[in-house]
Amino acid sequence: MSSPKRTSFSSKLAGLAVGLIFVAGAAAVPAMAQDKPTVGIAMPTKSSARWIDDGNNMVKYFQEKGYKTDLQYAEDDIPNQLAQIENMVTKNDKVLVIAAIDGTTLTDVLQKAAERGVKVIAYDRLIRGSANVDYYATFDNFQVGVLQASYIEKALGLKEGKGPFNIELFGGSPDDNNAYFFYNGAMSVLQPYIDSGKLKVGSGQVGMDKVSTLRWDGAVAQARMDNLLSAYYGNKRVDAVLSPYDGLSIGIISSLKGVGYGSASQPMPVVTGQDAEVQSVKSILAGEQRSTVFKDTRELAKVTVGMVDDLLAGRTPQVNDTKTYDNGKKVVPSYLLKPVLVDASNWKQVLVDGGYYKESQIK
Ligand code: BGC
Repeated sequence: MSSPKRTSFSSKLAGLAVGLIFVAGAAAVPAMAQDKPTVGIAMPTKSSARWIDDGNNMVKYFQEKGYKTDLQYAEDDIPNQLAQIENMVTKNDKVLVIAAIDGTTLTDVLQKAAERGVKVIAYDRLIRGSANVDYYATFDNFQVGVLQASYIEKALGLKEGKGPFNIELFGGSPDDNNAYFFYNGAMSVLQPYIDSGKLKVGSGQVGMDKVSTLRWDGAVAQARMDNLLSAYYGNKRVDAVLSPYDGLSIGIISSLKGVGYGSASQPMPVVTGQDAEVQSVKSILAGEQRSTVFKDTRELAKVTVGMVDDLLAGRTPQVNDTKTYDNGKKVVPSYLLKPVLVDASNWKQVLVDGGYYKESQIK
């Protein structure tokens, strides 16, 4: 009597086992490469080459790992970027990689994303005011400012006690968290010389509230430089201009040329920059802009793709900074890459030998 019962119990068990194997088999399929999810990539603008490279590099590396991508540019328009990200969430993109235009405007859409289990990586620029940011991939932004200002320090011979010199300061966009890091990094080098009188800010305009440049707009920087030159430099020379970004540097240099700088009798002041954009590298070779800061977007894209891949596979992404980037709601675990100063002495080695540009793009 007991034997048939046992048989039926063991056959049920066998059936269950077959069922489990079937379910496990079915569950394994979505993890395969061809079924990896779509990654939404929200970039700020195509007006600067670096963001085009960032986007293209990420698409390439994500696709190599089997992900689909949804790359969008918002032409520096905040509502446009918000709509693009909302759309990504609605379309069920499982990861968002965002270089925000205004780092404070994404709280609501990121809440929606979190409710759907979407992972969020802040790319290059910190997203502020939201707890729903998983990781941050960027460069050492404070160090960018240190490199820019150290270049001015060296070019003017400040360490050797030379001076006094006149300087003007430019900051980046006040809605971009990076702009404060660049500025503070630069001022960590310049402030002691301002305090000792070896550097004089001719206009007296110091502090991000006075020197920032909305949306990193070169035309805005050019107009401000025009005003500074006519209001404060009628009878004296400006020796250095701290510029945080190549697009601003080009505008500032046009303004300087407009009043006669760039000749033997009136040499260009030391003008810095960032991003190693082609036009600025050419300007460095022409002896106008003096330096830029190269940030290898290929590396940033690789780090970001690795982070996403780890997150989705249940691994903990590698970070190297868990203190610096407090976004007002949490300290976002970050991976910081190293920026590199580029000037006339090393542009070829860093940019051409490093494979970032072909020499023919520059010369
Ligand atoms: C980036 C810089 C860039 C600037 C303007 C910043 O957030 O870190 O590399 O020059 O935006 O696009």
